[in-house]
Amino acid sequence: MDAILAINSGSSTLKFGFFVKDGADERALAKGAADGIGKPAGKLEIFDGSGAILHSEDAPIESQQVAATRIGGTLRRLGFPLPVAVGHRIVHGGPRLRDHTRINPDVIAALEAAVHFAPVHIPTALVLIRHISEIYPDLPQFACFDTAFHKTLPEKAYHYPLPLKYLEEGVQRFGFHGLSYASIVHQLGTNLKPRTVVAHLGNGASLAAIRDGKSIDTSMGLTPTGGIPMSTRTGDLDPGVLLYIRRTEGLSGDELEDLLNHQSGLQALGGSNDMRELQKAAASGSQPAALAIDIFCTAVAKTIAAFGVSLGWLDMLVFAGGIGEHSADVRAGVCEQLALLGVEIDPARNAASEPVLSTGPSRVVVRIVPAQEEIQMAREVRARL
Ligand code: ADP
Repeated sequence: MDAILAINSGSSTLKFGFFVKDGADERALAKGAADGIGKPAGKLEIFDGSGAILHSEDAPIESQQVAATRIGGTLRRLGFPLPVAVGHRIVHGGPRLRDHTRINPDVIAALEAAVHFAPVHIPTALVLIRHISEIYPDLPQFACFDTAFHKTLPEKAYHYPLPLKYLEEGVQRFGFHGLSYASIVHQLGTNLKPRTVVAHLGNGASLAAIRDGKSIDTSMGLTPTGGIPMSTRTGDLDPGVLLYIRRTEGLSGDELEDLLNHQSGLQALGGSNDMRELQKAAASGSQPAALAIDIFCTAVAKTIAAFGVSLGWLDMLVFAGGIGEHSADVRAGVCEQLALLGVEIDPARNAASEPVLSTGPSRVVVRIVPAQEEIQMAREVRARL
């Protein structure tokens, strides 16, 4: 059994999936997550492929290394074999690493050189990669980049209007959520339409314009802070806002980074970073919560309309991510602003979160497709083994 372990490390979580080849595709034997890493209360949960719980443990998890060791040890005790390869989800590989790749000393050096592009995430990923290679020196490890799907962006989509030297340093639009977009293209198969916009709406949220399966435009930019407003990130701002805040408050780079990434977005607008909470608050009359949802839906709709220009037409709109897959209110709030593009969804299908939401006469097919980042990593790793 040649299993692949896909690892997706966040700031305080480590999600994983354990996959084997089943016919033409990958099948999950186990999935799970370590949560609350570095916090007083930690939790490790492991499920089998059908979602039945195999293991649940409440105990502090001091670090990503501790989480990885505990996940590995528990999988072995549960009878799972050692994987033949490990895939790491890496948000940003900088300008030199644009393809998923087997990790070797050159890749490590390129990741170290790219640290300015993702100062929190890349060091965390490197710690895990080194930790695993110390324990299993012969186990092949692969880097799967969220930016890889967008390497097909045309220059007019990635070139910022700045002096050329910045582009030469790698200051350009990269785009993220690429594993999610690739998994959606894979799942749609022959149902994918030539001119499709995918809205991946989770805590982090972005959109991609996909022409014949390839990314030609996307909302996030150099970093995942850009694009539409998110749970705690601003999304795009007039650059003058940053200059104003720097001038008036003299914030350091780290303070500004914290403000833009952790204290803004839905949290700042509506008092919660969680769409479910905002919907509840709005339903009980909170104006700020209602405004936050409206600003979010409008930003999504405007981006879809703009990507209609990038694509020349719109055949298909796909919702994904926690909000896109589960919030009928947000999907309705987006689609009702897109009548000019001929988008029309059926309220009953939308309320039931059915796979196809559009009505018969809708010019645009509207679908829900789940983001499946871990299984996509397993596919990418297997293809390169
Ligand atoms: P991440 O980007 O961290 O992977 P998710 O894709 O899980 O996040 O999305 C989390 C968001 O999805 C949260 O804002 C959460 O409130 C929202 N969400 C999840 N389920 C629902 C639901 N049933 N209705 C509305 N929002 C939901």
